[in-house]
Amino acid sequence: MVITCDVLVVGAGPAGLGAAITSSKKGLKTILVEKSSEIGYPVKSSGLTWKEVVDDWNLPDRVISQWTSSFYIYSAHSDREVEIDFGRVVGGTLNFHIFLQELAFQAIRRGTKIILSERASEPIMDGDFVCGVKTASGDKIKSKIVIDCSGSSAIIAKKAGLIPPNWNVELGIGFEYEMLNYKVRNPNAIEFYVGEKEIVPVSYAWVFPTGKDRARVGVSTVLNTIEEIEKKSIRYYEDRFLSKESPIYERVKDAQPFEMHTGAYSLGGMLNKIYSNGLMVAGDSASQASMLVGEGIRYALEFGKRAAETAFDAIKDNDLSEDYLKMYQEKCEEYLGETFEVAADLLDVPTDEYWEALIDSFILMKENRNLELVLKYLKTDMTREEAKKLFPSFEGKYL
Ligand SMILES: Cc1cc2nc3c(=O)[nH]c(=O)nc-3n(C[C@H](O)[C@H](O)[C@H](O)COP(=O)(O)OP(=O)(O)OC[C@H]3O[C@@H](n4cnc5c(N)ncnc54)[C@H](O)[C@@H]3O)c2cc1C
Repeated sequence: MVITCDVLVVGAGPAGLGAAITSSKKGLKTILVEKSSEIGYPVKSSGLTWKEVVDDWNLPDRVISQWTSSFYIYSAHSDREVEIDFGRVVGGTLNFHIFLQELAFQAIRRGTKIILSERASEPIMDGDFVCGVKTASGDKIKSKIVIDCSGSSAIIAKKAGLIPPNWNVELGIGFEYEMLNYKVRNPNAIEFYVGEKEIVPVSYAWVFPTGKDRARVGVSTVLNTIEEIEKKSIRYYEDRFLSKESPIYERVKDAQPFEMHTGAYSLGGMLNKIYSNGLMVAGDSASQASMLVGEGIRYALEFGKRAAETAFDAIKDNDLSEDYLKMYQEKCEEYLGETFEVAADLLDVPTDEYWEALIDSFILMKENRNLELVLKYLKTDMTREEAKKLFPSFEGKYL
């Protein structure tokens, strides 16, 4: 079977749904193919996001499991903890599949046709232009533009030669249980646990409450191969973060997991080229996530939207070439400013030095009532000058 449309979106994660909503809102005939049989499953995200994401995308409150107004950060290295209370809701933990379903409803109401249980398998080429995809069931979906939002598999971008097959070498892995009977300390507070040796090998551990007696409890780490990552991360998690030595032991000891969320994320920052003739890549496929804190949902939505806006302009101007689609990369770079470069520099700081400087800084910012700078850090929204204010000891050394 051959189907035609203006814009074909691959993948119904935040990037694909952001792209589909925008594309169909602009009146383009939009098809989205999703390999899963249900939108929003399996959950591969902890789902912490910012209040403005919920507002900007006109989402109902029910997409949030628990609003967040404060953060605890504890360093096992120096046994210090600081609480930052913003005194207002700044974000929340998403009920992830409801969140994606609500986005899908918006796309469908604006005219997107969603095809479930359909795996995009390879691009259809016309010379060196991508002009659709073939699906695993043998259908051909022809389009003027393809937006690849297939997450870290980046299936179409890889097969079209835009992304090298082995690009995602710098991977982080996240693993968490969502648990019931967790003794939640404060349902509106997110907790981060850092400190290289005692808690996690490289990155951080977290507790994201999703109710009064429920929480997502997880660790993220960085290793070299997916096999190694999964084995080590899970073993570490079981051995350490739930063990008697863990700082959360008293709260977690009677808790029972009812969901497990795991997945990989790229730490390399946005790819240098995210477009080619007839093709754009958005979200995790384009490595558009913060390497500092692993936040990807907001970027996936924003950049899916920008890809669709560019598709609209390209179709209107009848120019689907990469020279035209380059505009998409420029729009993404404009949104990011220097924030990802600053984040990459901070990632190079030796782990203990980094976390201790962070705790020192948060204590100071709290005393000086400069909590907005802390929020900018949590959002990876810092300019270089702001990062120097947060980490004065890094100036000239890492920043
Ligand atoms: C454990 C973990 C915790 C995280 N926690 C947070 C967090 O708290 N906050 C935050 O902001 N970010 C978090 N992230 C990152 C965030 O979840 C991702 O950056 C975000 O989901 C990326 O969205 P996406 O649409 O690009 O990709 P995905 O969410 O991966 O969606 C890709 C979609 O494409 C579909 N697909 C794949 N291949 C095909 C194919 N061939 N054909 C059709 N469909 C296909 C998939 O089924 C999926 O639905 C976390 C990531 C992990 C791994």
